[in-house]
Amino acid sequence: MTNLQKTVFTFGSKKAQGDASMKDLLGGKGANLCEMNLIGMPVPPGFTITTEMCKLYNSEGKVAVLEKIKEEVHTAMLQIEDQMGSKFGDNLNPCLVSVRSGSRASMPGMMDTILNLGLNDKVVEGLIEKTGNPRFVWDSYRRFIQMYSEVVMGMKPKSKEDEDPFEEIIDQLKHEKGVKLDSEFTAEHFKEMVSLFKNAVKQFTATDFPTDPWEQLWGAVIAVFDSWTNERAVYYRRLNHIPDDWGTAVNIQAMVFGNMGESSATGVAFTRDSSTGENLFNGEYLINAQGEDVVAGIRTPQQITLEGSRRWASVAAITEEVRAEKFPSLEETMPSIFQELIDIQKKLELHYKDMQDIEFTIQEGKLWMLQTRNAKRTGAAMVRIAIDMHKEGLLDEEAAVLRVDPNKLDELLHPVFDPKSLNQAALVAQGLPASPGAATGQIVFFADDAELGAEENRAVILVRIETSPEDLKGMVAAQGILTARGGMTSHAAVVARGMGKCCVSGGERLQIDYKNRTVSIGDLVLKEGDWISLNGSTGKIYKGKIETTAAVLSDDFDTLMEMADKYATMKVRTNADTPKDAEVARRFGAQGIGLCRTEHMFFEEDKIMAMREMILAEDEAGRRKALAKLLPMQRKDLEGIFEAMNGLPVTIRLLDPPLHEFVPHELENQKEMAEEMRISVKSVQDKIASMHEFNPMLGHRGCRLGNTYPEISEMQTRAILEAAINLKKAGIKALPEIMIPLTGTLAEMQMQKQIVTETAEKVFLEKGDSIAYSVGTMIEVPRAALVADRIAESAEFFSFGTNDLTQMTFGYSRDDAGKFLPFYLENGILKNDPFQVLDQNGVGQLIKIAAEKGLATRPDLKIGICGEHGGEPSSIEFCHLVGMNYVSCSPFRVPIARLAAAQAAIKEKKNSNKEVNSIKKTEEDLVLL
Ligand code: ADP
Ligand code: MG
Ligand code: MG
Repeated sequence: MTNLQKTVFTFGSKKAQGDASMKDLLGGKGANLCEMNLIGMPVPPGFTITTEMCKLYNSEGKVAVLEKIKEEVHTAMLQIEDQMGSKFGDNLNPCLVSVRSGSRASMPGMMDTILNLGLNDKVVEGLIEKTGNPRFVWDSYRRFIQMYSEVVMGMKPKSKEDEDPFEEIIDQLKHEKGVKLDSEFTAEHFKEMVSLFKNAVKQFTATDFPTDPWEQLWGAVIAVFDSWTNERAVYYRRLNHIPDDWGTAVNIQAMVFGNMGESSATGVAFTRDSSTGENLFNGEYLINAQGEDVVAGIRTPQQITLEGSRRWASVAAITEEVRAEKFPSLEETMPSIFQELIDIQKKLELHYKDMQDIEFTIQEGKLWMLQTRNAKRTGAAMVRIAIDMHKEGLLDEEAAVLRVDPNKLDELLHPVFDPKSLNQAALVAQGLPASPGAATGQIVFFADDAELGAEENRAVILVRIETSPEDLKGMVAAQGILTARGGMTSHAAVVARGMGKCCVSGGERLQIDYKNRTVSIGDLVLKEGDWISLNGSTGKIYKGKIETTAAVLSDDFDTLMEMADKYATMKVRTNADTPKDAEVARRFGAQGIGLCRTEHMFFEEDKIMAMREMILAEDEAGRRKALAKLLPMQRKDLEGIFEAMNGLPVTIRLLDPPLHEFVPHELENQKEMAEEMRISVKSVQDKIASMHEFNPMLGHRGCRLGNTYPEISEMQTRAILEAAINLKKAGIKALPEIMIPLTGTLAEMQMQKQIVTETAEKVFLEKGDSIAYSVGTMIEVPRAALVADRIAESAEFFSFGTNDLTQMTFGYSRDDAGKFLPFYLENGILKNDPFQVLDQNGVGQLIKIAAEKGLATRPDLKIGICGEHGGEPSSIEFCHLVGMNYVSCSPFRVPIARLAAAQAAIKEKKNSNKEVNSIKKTEEDLVLL
């Protein structure tokens, strides 16, 4: 841990003490600021306090950390001063700095940043003298007081309806001075604002605004550390599985000013389109403004490129004349800077080999780069960019496959508006297509109302003037987001795209009234609770509810899947109980069914009666009578599934759940059963009572049913094999694999297998025909994993039922875990929900043992997984490493699993010179301790 020694890394004038590989220590922002220097880009000088110091702060507190960094910070500051030719805190020749958060993983807008630090009443005078630009100086000062008081001194609006006290002062001043736009404020106005702001600070916090620049600096550094643990940052980390112990770095950087006049500006740009992936440089800028103005969506910004500007105007129905005059692009207003920016963005993409999201500021005609990072993008853009970059020769095939986050594919499979239903909807306004997708729901205006809606299973659309990071939870809960202000780079837009959530922004005609909870568009007034629909791909806003249909997949998606299949060594099957699910999964590329749950077929109306009759029967004869009724129904269902999976293997699990799940609990149904079976209601009730179990999940279920009531397994085997033989005549190839649930001992398995083989012989004899089939078992009882070598003597395949295996290994009832799992996750007792992400260290050990032992007995043993985990990328990687033949997951996760399987194979190949077959443990591996 030599890094613990050095607490501060400097950069500036094309030199740097760090580089892009040092994200863990310097955070993404700091590491990339260094890197940009190293590749010769214009970056204001600065330094980064390491993430280790944030950890130190969290464990030892403020005094300890300041003690530790003080000297190095002072020295590093000298370096900034040297390069800037000015001095921090100097009254005559002052240097201002920004204090910026920045962690290892990008968490856009979740933590805090303070600009223009180092100003006080004396420094202001010096700066006016130095720049000859009093308006700019007073503007910077009032911005600083506002930001610092909010971030460091905790001056945030108290309740959701409350106005920000600073915004109230600004509005008041506008009113008094007859000023309409911020740009009309004069130096005198800003000066007055400063003193009103300072009074407000005193009034709200009972302290004076700090005047000593060094005191300001330490306050800001601590506030940035604190912002690592603010509520929204913690929530964002949960959402994105970012560990809490990484900490944030603090970047202190000389200020450059985009608010010095008409030849100054600030902007944000993407090297490609983050919604669609189109290879088109795009972004937004504001003349005479500071960075936060673009991000917060306070003013609607202008487009950087002419092409982008024209597209924007056409969406907003603005004529070319008006556009060119009022909203010209940077390409038109500052052509040479624009060219420099184009060169830089190209160089950055080539250097990072990925799409970049950049921040820049132009100070009096000079361009400065302030940030670059791999851009957040939609699932669609992610796929397109990976394929395009492969075609452009930037990425080889393996890198392109690795570039796409499997979970992001989920978005592509989401529904879109049904074109038929669209014709009937009323288009009421046009906004910017900030994040694609289709959303329909009831209007809410506040994040907590959106959360409430989600809890009540209502579809809601969050409508805001602009969103701030505080609204994050509401954004997650809402179906879609609509904002009145802000552009494509506003907080709402960036975060929504990151989440794959539909968002329309910049609906300029929207008037939102938070107090009365209404939004008006022209004459139309919509209230909270009214239905509204958004198309995030076109920016169109509709009144009312619109039906949705399945998404259409792009050619790029197909190309990616084909590429993935070349590398994957595991097959991907699906869990499907109906022909319809099987067909969907097949279209997504499923190579078989890994789990077909026969019991799901019994819940349908006509079948449940026969099923109940079987359960309530007094004896074997009674059961056989009822089973005879079930046989043709089960056979027909299975024919449908075999037909859908023609030529592909289908694993059919024999009856698994405790029988009382099927019995009638309502009196009406009990009467019905009594009549049907010609017994008294009382006998029905007695029978039901006698079936009560204290722990049904550990009770009379799985192969314990099939062994105590062999006639059930018999009927099911018969249905499976008769269905397969019937289809054979029609030229349809069924490949049944009969799976015994919940096996724990060899004898249990043997007994079931004997029933199956004896029945098969009978069926083949009767039919005068036969069919190839195999008999295997689920491994879901821990004992089965431990004695897998014995069980494999009988079982021809293993399928890990990781839901039950997790349940029984942890001893957590899945149905009751809701009482403590959230607490465990919140408090870090568990890193992940083990029912979602396979617990590699615990449950994983059982899987490894079982696989090894099983293969030792039967080298051609087929091994797969059919629990929830079969569709979760980190679990899939584990399955690959233990040598499974396939994973099986729900139909909609099949593409995700195909990609994850390919990535696992590629990563293993890349690591093959390291340790084979042992699971690599990095902090990023989402394993339990
Ligand atoms: P975030 O992570 O929320 O984007 P940043 O630290 O990047 O926070 O800063 C917020 C805004 O302030 C950005 O637009 C950024 O470009 C701008 N900014 C940060 N530091 C400086 C600086 N030294 N000079 C000018 N603008 C800056
Ligand atoms: Mg930033
Ligand atoms: Mg099970």
